[in-house]
Amino acid sequence: MYDVVIIGGGIVGSSVAYYLSKYQLKTVLLEADNDISNGTTKANSAIIHAGYDPEEGTLMAFHNVRGARLAKELCAKLDVPYKQCGAMVIGFDEDDEKMVHTLYERGLANGVEGLEILDGKTVQKLEPCVSDKVTCALLAKTSAIVSPWEYALALAETAVRNGVEVKLNNRVTAISRNGEAFTVTTVKGKYECRYIINCAGLYADKVHQMIGEKEFKIIPSRGQYYLLDKAEGRRVSRTVFQCPTKDGKGVLVSPTVHGNLIVGPDAEDNDDFSVATTTEGLNFVRNASKKSIPTVDFRENIRNFAGVRAKSDRPDFILEESRSVKNFYNIAGIKSPGLSSAPSLALEAVQWLRSKGEQLKEKDNFIDERKRIRFKELSGEEKQELIRKEPAYGRVICRCETITEGEILNALRTPIPAVSIDGVKRRCNAGMGRCQGGFCSERVAEILMKELHLDGLEVLQDKEGSNVLVDYSKGGSSNV
Ligand SMILES: Cc1cc2nc3c(=O)[nH]c(=O)nc-3n(C[C@H](O)[C@H](O)[C@H](O)COP(=O)(O)OP(=O)(O)OC[C@H]3O[C@@H](n4cnc5c(N)ncnc54)[C@H](O)[C@@H]3O)c2cc1C
Repeated sequence: MYDVVIIGGGIVGSSVAYYLSKYQLKTVLLEADNDISNGTTKANSAIIHAGYDPEEGTLMAFHNVRGARLAKELCAKLDVPYKQCGAMVIGFDEDDEKMVHTLYERGLANGVEGLEILDGKTVQKLEPCVSDKVTCALLAKTSAIVSPWEYALALAETAVRNGVEVKLNNRVTAISRNGEAFTVTTVKGKYECRYIINCAGLYADKVHQMIGEKEFKIIPSRGQYYLLDKAEGRRVSRTVFQCPTKDGKGVLVSPTVHGNLIVGPDAEDNDDFSVATTTEGLNFVRNASKKSIPTVDFRENIRNFAGVRAKSDRPDFILEESRSVKNFYNIAGIKSPGLSSAPSLALEAVQWLRSKGEQLKEKDNFIDERKRIRFKELSGEEKQELIRKEPAYGRVICRCETITEGEILNALRTPIPAVSIDGVKRRCNAGMGRCQGGFCSERVAEILMKELHLDGLEVLQDKEGSNVLVDYSKGGSSNV
């Protein structure tokens, strides 16, 4: 019998797993996909918002501000790429100026530090590529950028090192109750538990309705992006937003922690949950971005992608015990700023258990650190020393990003090992560069085959079913 079953391994479920792993509890995280962070968490703007955007008094406001502070600490402890680069919300007319002042006041009310209002000239001095039509801006110094998938992986890996079980490829299909205990059925087996924390993102309403009444509905909303090469990565040094509208925070232009430039998203309700990009959506993003940064060179585009927001039919985050099922908790409707808020949302789970009289004894040996080897960041002497100990660090596999075989092997030997080419990419950046894996994917596939004892036909690009080879009959071989 488990104490807690967490359903969903995005940033929210991974944060819950991390915080619960501090205590003497038997916890399992069930994830439908073959990897952590393969839902909305891997496809967003990657901003840790400062917290001036949500209205005062909302759950979004409180958890955004607390979550952003926790994110800074967690990323430092768990070696997650994070940079407090700051953000600007720029304005072009009187209406925008009113909005900039509203956001400033709201930020102060929400407890955001480091806010300033700037005039157009100062904006251009700080960010020379911003349009010369700019008249004002809100500067938010505490806004940051992060690697969202590494953030979730780091939390989930740390939870595993502290005793939480993570079961991938375990889509929950049914939930029933026998007295005080739940039985959670997945495509792979059954798990008995006393509490359920539902972090199933876009499917949180369906998971809740496996046992509860219809209490909320998830409304998917797609956002599309351009990711530009590092040649454009210094176009801005802060995240540049336009003033928000009823559809959200609008199109931003931002550096990424990996040195690229990201431009997007649009907002479009899409009932089919599709993450396909469309010409219409991308054209909208491109044209809208020109208003803020007219000189972005879209010829440097290396990838387009889309993510789907889990909006709900309630205006705020849903963060409560189910109204129809005791001991079943929903962390649902986690649209933006969900990435920023996640650790703060997860702390509520600890409180929920305490409020039920659980003693929650802390573990004496809780591991609260993580270190990743990034070969290209080492000094010459450190590189030589590492290669002497482990020659695989002497073989560069991804030439765009200078990622070595040693780092790829590490990605396959972490507490939650990669099982696909993209899983390797999310853990060590192989394939993240200008050629987007054009050169190294084949080599990564060979390493996967050798390490995981796979036949070539079994190698996945990403999710189940994304096999990169489907037939040997037209040449090629299963030999490594
Ligand atoms: C376009 C866009 C831009 C955004 N920009 C930002 C931003 O800059 N800053 C910010 O703070 N937030 C941003 N967000 C919001 C942020 O990305 C989300 O709030 C966050 O990723 C949600 O995390 P999650 O864990 O709730 O969901 P997910 O990451 O989707 O995780 C849910 C998991 O549950 C699993 N699951 C579903 N059903 C089942 C089942 N039956 N059984 C088992 N597992 C199941 C899924 O496979 C998935 O892995 C953005 C979102 C989008 C779409």
